Amino acid sequence: MKWSKMVCVVMVFVSCTVAIHAEEKSAYTWRLATTWGSTLKPFIDTPRKLSALVDAMSNGRFKIEVVASNKHKKPFGIFDMVKSGEYEMGHSASYYWSKKDNAFNPLTTMPFGMTAPEQYGWFYEGGGMALMQKLYKKYGLLSFPGGNTGNQMGGWFKKEIDSVEDLKGLKMRIPGFAGQVMSKLGVKVTNLPPPKLSKALSDGTLDALEWVGPGMDIGFGFHKIAPYYYSGWHEPATELQYLVNMEKFKTLPKDLKEILVSAMKLTAYDMYIQIYDMHARAWRKMRKEYPNIVIKTFPISVMDALRKAKKQLLIKQMANNPMLREIIESQNAYMKQSREWTKMSDFLYLIESL
Ligand code: CA
Repeated sequence: MKWSKMVCVVMVFVSCTVAIHAEEKSAYTWRLATTWGSTLKPFIDTPRKLSALVDAMSNGRFKIEVVASNKHKKPFGIFDMVKSGEYEMGHSASYYWSKKDNAFNPLTTMPFGMTAPEQYGWFYEGGGMALMQKLYKKYGLLSFPGGNTGNQMGGWFKKEIDSVEDLKGLKMRIPGFAGQVMSKLGVKVTNLPPPKLSKALSDGTLDALEWVGPGMDIGFGFHKIAPYYYSGWHEPATELQYLVNMEKFKTLPKDLKEILVSAMKLTAYDMYIQIYDMHARAWRKMRKEYPNIVIKTFPISVMDALRKAKKQLLIKQMANNPMLREIIESQNAYMKQSREWTKMSDFLYLIESL
């Protein structure tokens, strides 16, 4: 072999070795499990956008495979699967595991709690993130806001609710802490999974149900069965959550950690925008095609009873859970200072614009 040819072969070998070595050192492939099925928009879009963004921002060094619940079959097992390290990440909602610890509830939303801008203010500027990490650290997890639904509607009812009496014996799908509040007022609460909701509402298994809002409700056709659409009180700012296994996060180099955290924040905000647009469009369509839909607000007596039941329940739960108390007190203090601004800015503006 000629000298020049040999040098060339050696150079190719060396450069290949260096390239492979660099790739091995910098390649990270993670899996992210979702509570959502592969078609549930916009929730499923959020981790998919995260995956694409992380891939592009890291120039292909960091891949995240999104595994929807119709594949892994454990929609409510995200917490355990990320904790055990079976999946490095998850996308779900904190209140789905409130049976493990009811301090998880207010990290999603609380009845009569903060609106989405107020809650984002609390998370990012008002100490909310630190409290969330304090709670999740106990379980070897990190958690980050994963997208907000905005104010959720109070639900679809077959009959009007004129008094607290009308709630007694009412069969309603309403999950989480709000379901406990409703139950205190005599509602027979069930928590059926979304695919079973329309049939249950039409065959009388349910008299009422809540899901999210027009953009996500429209596909189920609830408006064709139960025409009274009540305004919300129970989920004023439902924030989804990204979960990250803490030990796996520690294995990432500094730049990929930053890319991941930034992409989570960006995609969470992106979902808030996407769902707002979906709701507005869907409502316009519903309004036009189904003029029989009646928008209602619960009477003051019902709202007062709900507020009172919520307070009583929460006082009891906080007495047994110091972490829940710490989170609720922080949220209440933040809401007290921010609500004044919400009222004199957006609220007065909207009243003036009517
Ligand atoms: Ca809901």
